[in-house]
Amino acid sequence: MTARALLEVDGLHVRFPMRSGLMQRVTGAVHAVSGVDFTIPRGEAYGLVGESGCGKTTVARAVLQLVRPSAGTIRFDGADLTAMSARELAPFRRRVQAIFQDPFSSLNPRMTAGDILAEPIRVHRLVPQPEIAERVGHLLDLCGLPRRFVELYPHEMSGGQRQRVGIARALAMEPDLIVCDEAVSALDVSVQAQIINLLADLRRELGLTYLFIGHDLSVVRHLCDQVAVMYLGRIMERAESEPLFATPAHPYTRALLDAVPDPDPEHEAGREVEPLQGEVPSPSAPPPGCVFHPRCPVAIDRCRQEEPALASVGSRREAACWLAEPKPRRDTSIKKQEVSL
Ligand code: SF4
Repeated sequence: MTARALLEVDGLHVRFPMRSGLMQRVTGAVHAVSGVDFTIPRGEAYGLVGESGCGKTTVARAVLQLVRPSAGTIRFDGADLTAMSARELAPFRRRVQAIFQDPFSSLNPRMTAGDILAEPIRVHRLVPQPEIAERVGHLLDLCGLPRRFVELYPHEMSGGQRQRVGIARALAMEPDLIVCDEAVSALDVSVQAQIINLLADLRRELGLTYLFIGHDLSVVRHLCDQVAVMYLGRIMERAESEPLFATPAHPYTRALLDAVPDPDPEHEAGREVEPLQGEVPSPSAPPPGCVFHPRCPVAIDRCRQEEPALASVGSRREAACWLAEPKPRRDTSIKKQEVSL
């Protein structure tokens, strides 16, 4: 483990049994995650991207210990979570918090924002009882909400305000790592920008570390220092954010980037993009060789027989492709967002 790593995921596999028949016998397995490795240094933001069903959310759930890995290790601040009992995991659960896509369903509709934020502080005795109200007020300040919000119920807030309360609730536990699982996907674009700016500011102010799961590449590019692109439970490419977006090396990364529409209608009309054909195959029956080969526009015979491993394609970047080569792309569609609160 490197000295500064807060989270190190090594050889992670997650398999779910497939059952069928009256007796619900196990007849196979879904390989949701197959050999994923990545390291997040303390204070950095790491993005996991890919189409729906690529396994990124299962990785997040494994890091949160909501699913147990079938193999591999997840080390947090030097301790192997996969070897711990439920009791041993308790302190870790406070230090790793999550923000989910739909704040409405994750906030108790019968509690005010004040109660929602005070509850974890009280339960975990994070500050003495007389200081809880001030701590709640400080959390609202941090998340850009007026203190009068202590009186409001979730249904009295907008989607962006609810997500700010969700972030404040995560911060109430004084975490080191926040797992953001599609945390801005349900919000309008302008509200997304505000929440992303808030997450970036909080990271700077509080020294937070993020694992950011998303499919919106411009959001991931804005927030994350490093990015891994996942497909069918595997990492296809990983690199620092800027080189990955400017010169993608893997055909799947290029296809994902090309799929983002150009915000300039004139450029979009003249853009020649070959859309990615076909669907993501079932993780219970992955294709032989390179798992991307049935959809890859440049596949060769070797791709149908041999699976490429992640291999270096430049300084601090790797791709799993026999033909991997960083290539510049005409970058008009994915701009690093200039967003302001
Ligand atoms: Fe395409 Fe072959 Fe590379 Fe897989 S290994 S991405 S099929 S070129």
